[in-house]
Amino acid sequence: MAEPRLVVVSNRIPTDAQPAGGLVVALHEALESRGGVWIGSSGNMVDTPGPLREISPEGSVYTRLAYDLTHDEHKGFYLGHANSVIWPLFHHRADLIDVSEESRRQYMGVNARVAEMIAEVLEPTDILWIHDYHFLPLANELRKRGVGNRIGYFLHIPFPNPSDIAALPDRKQLGAWISAYDLIGLQTQRDVSACLEWLRSDTDAEFTLRGRMKLDGRFFEVRSFPIGIDVDAFQKAADEADIRITDLPPDQKLVLGVDRLDYSKGLPNRFEAFGKYLGLRDRDGPRATMLQIAPPSREDVEAYRDIRAELESMAGSVNGEHAEIDWTPIRYLRKPLPRETLAGLYRRADLCLVTPLADGMNLVAKEYVAAQDGADPGVLILSHFAGAAEQLDGALMVNPYDTADMARVIDQALTMSLHERHARWLSMMQVIRETDIAWWTDSYLRALRSQPQMQVA
Ligand code: UDP
Repeated sequence: MAEPRLVVVSNRIPTDAQPAGGLVVALHEALESRGGVWIGSSGNMVDTPGPLREISPEGSVYTRLAYDLTHDEHKGFYLGHANSVIWPLFHHRADLIDVSEESRRQYMGVNARVAEMIAEVLEPTDILWIHDYHFLPLANELRKRGVGNRIGYFLHIPFPNPSDIAALPDRKQLGAWISAYDLIGLQTQRDVSACLEWLRSDTDAEFTLRGRMKLDGRFFEVRSFPIGIDVDAFQKAADEADIRITDLPPDQKLVLGVDRLDYSKGLPNRFEAFGKYLGLRDRDGPRATMLQIAPPSREDVEAYRDIRAELESMAGSVNGEHAEIDWTPIRYLRKPLPRETLAGLYRRADLCLVTPLADGMNLVAKEYVAAQDGADPGVLILSHFAGAAEQLDGALMVNPYDTADMARVIDQALTMSLHERHARWLSMMQVIRETDIAWWTDSYLRALRSQPQMQVA
């Protein structure tokens, strides 16, 4: 029997013929090898909503269909409900949520409008793969329109603490939204446990045989599929990169951080820990410079406005205390860097700090490991709260709230023997190779295809 056609839905659809960026590349490759359709927003904003339009590049083997959001939809659906309620709540920051009736109305409105457009192009045997927190209610909206196809969902961010869900204005609908999907993919076992705990304590879901759940007459499954990267591509980019930081002497240690400027990334804690490390380091040992790449994101969202000023002031005070005329301990770059440059910086860095307070997976951790030179690899310091911590036990684990301990672990990393660095790197390399991006798409789609197709009346 022929494979069913794959229809992918994500918030943004790439407009370049050869898209860049982890997830986008993975979905592009899955569609290139199988054919199918990709539906998402164009990134343009308009005054009145229009229909789906085809934007497939010349010669593409799959179809790209885009819609434009209106200005009001962008404000209420994207900046509002998705990024001012769901994002903070799912990253365990219920204190930051900004609930608004209008934003919630736009969130539901966009999901209903996208469902309407999908239903028009869907064929009965298609399988749908819907991505991320922008589209929690999308399958339910499709079911309301009589869609009986298999529908999968992947949540790229953490599943919230069950007790926080009480703060979600949509908490009563969440059970219906989740059970409208056939397969819920989450990043980690920890997310799966949180989801099952919420289903058990807050809904009427029944646990049935073979790990499937039943709610409101629908069967569904919740499983973890940790997202991976294209390991060979990163290794190659690092081999080919020609990065010279001309004012960083070769014997000086480079400590690297690469994060979107987001409150979930724990950057103030990291700067504080690095300041403490500078206070305890051996004055006769080599100097370490921390380079933090932190391109701003979502600056139109209230909760993001103050982080930039806070970090700049922290970097200023750490440098004020520890800088020498020929050494600035913290360097801070706000501009985003292309992946080729990042690959070169990963290779040069002796240590990478990935210390979020909450993170679905954190791809930077995996990219850093992939980019190392096996003969002289660097060390990864990883927060317990990154999804990647469940897989990368060769990293040095830290609690980002305990900055004094993080300072000691930075010292441990920068003085680690080659033998230990190598053993830790090898064990991480094995994991990221076994669960690379091709494994992720294949294993998810295989699991989705094996879900029995339910007909909905
Ligand atoms: N990235 C980039 N340029 C930058 C900073 C980050 O290309 O200046 C990329 C980085 O290589 C990684 C992604 O952005 O692939 C960030 O993914 P991650 O899972 O670490 O965090 P997210 O931003 O999705 O929360």
